[in-house]
Amino acid sequence: MAIEFTDKIRRLPVYPTAGGYALDGFAMLASNEAPFGPMPGVVEAAAGAVATANRYPDPSNMRLRRALAARYDYDPMKIAIGAGSCDILLSAAEALLEPGAEVVYAWPSFSVYPHMAAATGATAIRVPLDAEHRHDLDAMLAEITAATRLVIVCNPNNPTGTAHPLAAVERFMAEVPRHVCVILDEAYCEFSTLDDPDASLALLKRHANLVLLRTFSKVYGLAGLRVGYALCGDERFRVAVEQVRQPFFCNSVAQAAAEAALLRQDELTRRIEETVANRLALEEGLRELGLDVAESQSNFIWHSLGDGDEQEILAGLRDRKVLIRSGRALGREGWARTTVGTSAENRRFLDALRELV
Ligand SMILES: *Cc1c(COP(=O)(O)O)cnc(C)c1O
Repeated sequence: MAIEFTDKIRRLPVYPTAGGYALDGFAMLASNEAPFGPMPGVVEAAAGAVATANRYPDPSNMRLRRALAARYDYDPMKIAIGAGSCDILLSAAEALLEPGAEVVYAWPSFSVYPHMAAATGATAIRVPLDAEHRHDLDAMLAEITAATRLVIVCNPNNPTGTAHPLAAVERFMAEVPRHVCVILDEAYCEFSTLDDPDASLALLKRHANLVLLRTFSKVYGLAGLRVGYALCGDERFRVAVEQVRQPFFCNSVAQAAAEAALLRQDELTRRIEETVANRLALEEGLRELGLDVAESQSNFIWHSLGDGDEQEILAGLRDRKVLIRSGRALGREGWARTTVGTSAENRRFLDALRELV
């Protein structure tokens, strides 16, 4: 007799993973990682933590929470840590969702959101993006009912890179009932030129139901260590997402590395400037090929692939050692999501794409 699994295992979608991790010499433009290594001082801090790996990590993550509290001038009791911000998303699902409850999010958006309803038996309400590939915030508001527990706004949005200015988010928050938790997923906020990424913290003071979700995986270049955080309007959100997880959810190496990375805000600014400059050059290159390009405020670009067949173009790119993300897997056939790499990687991608579209 075969072993029996839960109903949930049949419901859960399989995450569309990128390839290339076992390969050498590829331009890895499929997962929105930083093309830079860890910041100065981070490797040493991580090595220091490895030396005491016989001990469990601090389950309260207190040093990292204090460092974030100092960086943002915010209450450490309202800062939650996760093994990547996805860990906080899945914990929030467990803490907030159940059969009969509803979660509202835009589509296409981040591939982890569909897991949240599937894992908990809640109902997912997907709201299509507008014609400019942005969240349709009014349409999302219209979907909020007495059953809504959670609304997720991905700003800038993955996979389209588009963002709403903070003023639009502010108007949105003013209309959301106070019992509905809003997670503002800001994994890419540092790359946006619309607003200062610190400005959204002002909203937390007015809206206890708001959670700002951020990560060390993108601009900080620590995707491989899995560490993210949430700035919570209400301390009870942190307590709830800690309650549903194993006690040692964030390892000691990740905690030490993230704390060291936070100290290098100078290097952070430099990397953001380089990424934004490379983004503009990449957008221009794509437009020169006659492709449609969504307006990006992130470290990746959502663009059409012309009249060619998506799978053939992606295979052609792979033959030329370039990996980007297929739009079909992300909700829109004939489009693709390309991460902004180094200028050399971006040139390699554009040269390869020119031969294929
Ligand atoms: C990459 C990404 C994250 C971060 O995931 P981690 O688990 O922190 O690596 C969160 N939200 C979105 C929309 C992302 O694209």
